[in-house]
Amino acid sequence: MHLYIHVPFCVRRCSYCDFSIAVRKRIPAEEYVNTVLAELVMQRRSSPGRVDPGAVPRGGWGVGGGTSEPGLDTLYLGGGTPSLLPVPELSRLITSLLHAFPSTPSPLALEATLEANPEDVTPENARAWRDAGVNRVSLGAQSFDDRVLAWMHRSHDAARIGAAVHALRGAGIDNISLDLIFALPAELQRDWGRDLDLALALLPSHLSLYGLTVEERTPLARWISRGAASPPDDERYAAEYLLAHERLAAAGYHFYEISNAARDGQRSRHNSAYWSGRSYVGLGPAAHSFDGRARRWNLSAWEAYRRAVLAGRSPMESEEVLTPEQQELERLYLLLRTNEGVFQSDYPTIGPSGAVGRGWVEVRDGRVRCTAEGWLRLDALVHALTRPTAIS
Ligand code: SF4
Repeated sequence: MHLYIHVPFCVRRCSYCDFSIAVRKRIPAEEYVNTVLAELVMQRRSSPGRVDPGAVPRGGWGVGGGTSEPGLDTLYLGGGTPSLLPVPELSRLITSLLHAFPSTPSPLALEATLEANPEDVTPENARAWRDAGVNRVSLGAQSFDDRVLAWMHRSHDAARIGAAVHALRGAGIDNISLDLIFALPAELQRDWGRDLDLALALLPSHLSLYGLTVEERTPLARWISRGAASPPDDERYAAEYLLAHERLAAAGYHFYEISNAARDGQRSRHNSAYWSGRSYVGLGPAAHSFDGRARRWNLSAWEAYRRAVLAGRSPMESEEVLTPEQQELERLYLLLRTNEGVFQSDYPTIGPSGAVGRGWVEVRDGRVRCTAEGWLRLDALVHALTRPTAIS
């Protein structure tokens, strides 16, 4: 079982962000945790034989058999800013979820990730998170340039990133991922190479690199529309993406997905489950669930979600059932965006005159995998593979 919990609260909105968040000075943490746990109970009422999260098993981890509920393989608290939850409520949430999945084998076998902003990572918080069961932290670093962080409306400075990594390691959390954003407007004169070097100097186990995209109704979209910021630049995007591949490879990191690189095999097991098409359950506002065929998602606004659960109504907003053709196309995208790749025998038209000749893919051990150049052109590549005549 792969479980995602969406924590929607943030202290302010970053200039590029259109996620489903609720900006709050004071987090209604107790109410939030109660509501998420109530949603889990509600989901289980429609599935007989499942465990009420209020039923704490005596003996703790791995105890409480007699249930058909699978154990948790991964738990991911994303947002929003999950690190804003006060420690007692975060701890109660994780403990209740683990008790609700008593077949979870042990804290060591579970990958429990917390997304955190650097300013929330103090030595005390880091120790308390570890004690609550968190063993992986995804840190929203974004840049090591204070000017750039201010432009992004981030609430931390560059120095906080190193301090946060230090605090996490001091608490025994070594599995640390750093998020960085690239392809920022030229006028910022952001030194991407310097940011990569500073991130690598912290020796994170994992890096997630996202190209800036302009979403409607964000401050960034408004700045661009009135000429205060330049629009996205494909050449800059490609150059910075390729530079990241070069620097990370030299430092021993391996891109196992289009935007994610790890060293020593420390991939995100949770996200890998998404990319391999496995089913997952999401709780909280805007959370998505997938059962292998249908994708469902919750109401995205915290208030609407809260009111629905409080009234005993399902907070599900909608669902889509994939046709066999959509499932096949999605499978192709997922395989190509990871280094799994596809069987060459399934795509016999790939050859010197096609994607291989263009350097978009390489063929090894009978599998076709994207190169960095190919990942930059994933849509065109999928189009070429599904309509072979389009490439020649
Ligand atoms: S902290 Fe994350 S979720 Fe919150 S506004 Fe910034 S980018 Fe969006």
